[in-house]
Amino acid sequence: MSASSGEEQKPQRKELILRVMEARQKDVGRGKVRIDIDLLSQIDVSPGDVVEIEGTRKTAALAWPLSPEDTTTGEKDIIRMDGITRKNAGVSIGDKVIVRKAVVKPASTVKLAPSNFSITVDPGFISYVKKRLKEFPLVEGDTVLIPVLGQAIPFTVVQVKPAGIVLVNDDTIISISDKPVEPSRYPRVTYEDIGGMKNIIEKVRELVELPLRHPELFKRLGIEPPKGILLYGPPGVGKTLLAKAIANETDAYFTSINGPEIMSKFYGESEQRLREIFEDAKKHAPAIIFVDEIDAIAPKRDEVIGEVERRVVAQLLTLMDGLENRGNVIVIAATNRPSAVDPALRRPGRFDREIEIPLPDKQGRLEILQIHTRNMPLSKDVDLEKLADMTHGYTGADLSALVREAAMNSLRRYLPKIDLNQDKIPPEILESMEVKMEDFINAFKE
Ligand code: ADP
Repeated sequence: MSASSGEEQKPQRKELILRVMEARQKDVGRGKVRIDIDLLSQIDVSPGDVVEIEGTRKTAALAWPLSPEDTTTGEKDIIRMDGITRKNAGVSIGDKVIVRKAVVKPASTVKLAPSNFSITVDPGFISYVKKRLKEFPLVEGDTVLIPVLGQAIPFTVVQVKPAGIVLVNDDTIISISDKPVEPSRYPRVTYEDIGGMKNIIEKVRELVELPLRHPELFKRLGIEPPKGILLYGPPGVGKTLLAKAIANETDAYFTSINGPEIMSKFYGESEQRLREIFEDAKKHAPAIIFVDEIDAIAPKRDEVIGEVERRVVAQLLTLMDGLENRGNVIVIAATNRPSAVDPALRRPGRFDREIEIPLPDKQGRLEILQIHTRNMPLSKDVDLEKLADMTHGYTGADLSALVREAAMNSLRRYLPKIDLNQDKIPPEILESMEVKMEDFINAFKE
C-alpha cells in the first residue's frame, strides 16, 4: 500500500528544526521571522503565511524568506527572530525551535493588559491598538509591543478567542485592561536594542550566557566558568545596556550596584550592603550582578585615602572569592578608567576577563540611530546614513539624545496647530505627525 492512499492515518504535519538567530534591525517589532525560502516550501508555507514556532513555549509569526545578506554564513537551517518573538517562544539565540505551518483563525475577541505599569485606556487608544495589531498573529500569553509616543510599550495577550493562533481583523473585539498583569521582574532589553556591538555581544554571550545556562558544559570539560567580567570604555557607550540585555536574554536575575552610590549613600554600611547584594543574587541564581563605576569602589590602593575604602575593597574581593565556581552568579563590572581599578580585582578568579567597548564607528552609529528611531514616524527625507556620517565621536547616549531632541523639534512645529485646551489631540493630527531631516539637523546644530 502506498503512503498516499492511506486515509485512516492523518498525515504528520511537516516541520522544520531550526537554529535561532537574531533579527535584522528592519524586522524588529513586526512579528516577522525569516527562514530560507526552500525550507519554507518544504513545509508548504508561502511568504507572508503564519507559522507556529515551538521552543519552550509556542508562539506564532509571519514567515518571510531570508534575504541574501542573511545567508552569508552558508548556514541554511536558521530562523531569524527578534527579542520579543524569542521571549514568546521561550528561547535564546542558538537554541533550536520547531516550525510548522500554522492553523490560523480570525480573532473574535482579544484581551490585552499592559505588561509592566498601569495605563489609561480610552476608545481612541483601543482603535489605535487594533490598527497596529491587524494581521498580527497572536497567541495567549504572548507579549506584543505597541509603539506609543515613540516608545514601545509591552502588552501581554491575556486571552484570545477562539483559542489557538488568531489574527486580528476589523470585526475583532479588543479589550485592554488598565492594570498590569505582573510587575516587571527583568529589564526588558534585548540584543537588538544594542547597536554596533555584534562582535562584543558574541564574546560576552560566550563568557556569560553559556555558563549561566549550561554550567554542565564547563564542569564536563573541567574548566572554570568566569566569575567576573570587566567592561571598559567611555560613558554612554552601552555597558549597562549590555549587562541588562544579557540578564534578560538568559532570564537571569539582575541586580546592580552603583560604585559611587554605595560609597556615599551607604557610607559606613557599604560592606554590609555589598554582602546583601551578593546574598540576594545567590538566592535568585542564575543571576548577574552589575557593578557600575567599579573604580569608585575599588580604586588602586595607592590612590586610596581612607581605611573605609580599604575595607570595602577587601570585602568585594572576599565576596568574589566566595562565589562558587558554578558559574551561576556572574559579576559584570563597568569602568571608564580600567587603569584606575585595583589590580588585585583583575587577578584570575576575579575580574579576569576584560572587554573593551569603544565608541561606535559609522556602521554602529547607523544601527543605534535605527534602534532609537524604530518607533518614530520618520518622514521620507530622513537620511540616517548621513546622520551617522555627521556624528563622528558620538556615543550611543549622545545619539539617543539627538533623536529625542529631533522629536522635540518636530513637536514644536506641530504645537501651533494644536489647541492644548482640548481634552484630546485629534487623531488626524497625531496620524500626520512626522519627524523630518531638518529636525535632526537642527538638533545636531544645538
Ligand atoms: P554606559 O553604561 O556605557 O555608560 P548606558 O548603557 O547606560 O552606557 O547607555 C545609556 C543610554 O544610551 C542607553 O540607555 C541607550 O539609550 C543609549 N545607548 C548607549 N549605547 C547604545 C548602543 N550601543 N546602542 C543603543 N543605544 C545605546
